[in-house]
Amino acid sequence: KRVADRYLKREVLGEGTYGIVFKAIDTKTGQTVAIKKIRLGKYKEGVNFTALREIKLLKELKDPNIIELIDAFPHKGNLHLVFEFMESDLEAVIRDRNIVLSPADVKSYLQMTLKGLAYCHKKWVVHRDMKPNNLLIASDGQLKLADFGLARIFGSPDRKFTHQVFARWYRAPELLYGAKQYGAGVDVWAAGCIFAELLLRRPFLQGSSDIDQLGKIFAAFGTPKPSQWPDMVFLPDYVEYQYVPAPPLRTLFPMASDDALDLLSKMFTYDPKARITVQQALEHRYFSSVPAPTKPSLLPRPP
Ligand code: ADP
Repeated sequence: KRVADRYLKREVLGEGTYGIVFKAIDTKTGQTVAIKKIRLGKYKEGVNFTALREIKLLKELKDPNIIELIDAFPHKGNLHLVFEFMESDLEAVIRDRNIVLSPADVKSYLQMTLKGLAYCHKKWVVHRDMKPNNLLIASDGQLKLADFGLARIFGSPDRKFTHQVFARWYRAPELLYGAKQYGAGVDVWAAGCIFAELLLRRPFLQGSSDIDQLGKIFAAFGTPKPSQWPDMVFLPDYVEYQYVPAPPLRTLFPMASDDALDLLSKMFTYDPKARITVQQALEHRYFSSVPAPTKPSLLPRPP
């Protein structure tokens, strides 16, 4: 079946936050693509020119570590977003028990993640929903961030979709406290969680509710003091928590190098204004010290 005269529809790849994703062939280029069909639900008629205008901006985002938005068009009341097709994602790599990730492999995956983020942050686009299954892996081993900017355009993921519970584990404390104005720091926190997950080979902070998520964060890093994060007390959902001291980060990551641990702690700074930026993280000595990051084409991948 053809979509918009150009794409030959193939099998469904899965169901995501915004709707169904299917594989297709672009008859214009012969390229295999993934098409995300977004239900326009509440907007319906006026698909919202704002959304279309913002989508146009996303089409301008071009970087080796960002998944390319090839095309975007409304069709039968749904918005279709056409992306390059990707073989795998970081979640599959982390979960595959047959894959050994060396410190150089972890460094490479984190570096590619941060490079993609740096490119978008420079253009003032925040991802807002970073998680390992949004980090897609191309056949040449390059990691590419998916779903950039969608959270802002289409609203934050709906809680009624059960798979969304996983997104909570990567959520920055300012979001959990209900911050309405947030910045690129939310992506740094999420990247920190992904870094931790690469080291541990399991999700680091697995909260079962938003409150429990904050509890997990506080148990790992200690409850934030207002002196550490002055704006915290003004956040909409701020509640005072019983004091919990921070265990040494080393006890949580016994195998990590000192450089890795130092970068990790800076990504997990409570105050988003004091948190390390993506650019600063890329300049951290973790990336210049040995071992050098593995070349993408040599990274271990699922069969
Ligand atoms: P979520 O919203 O949960 O992150 P997505 O909407 O991104 O999920 O994706 C739903 C499914 O489609 C997933 O199984 C994902 O692996 C697959 N998928 C998404 N984008 C691509 C792509 N560019 N290439 C291949 N598969 C993709």
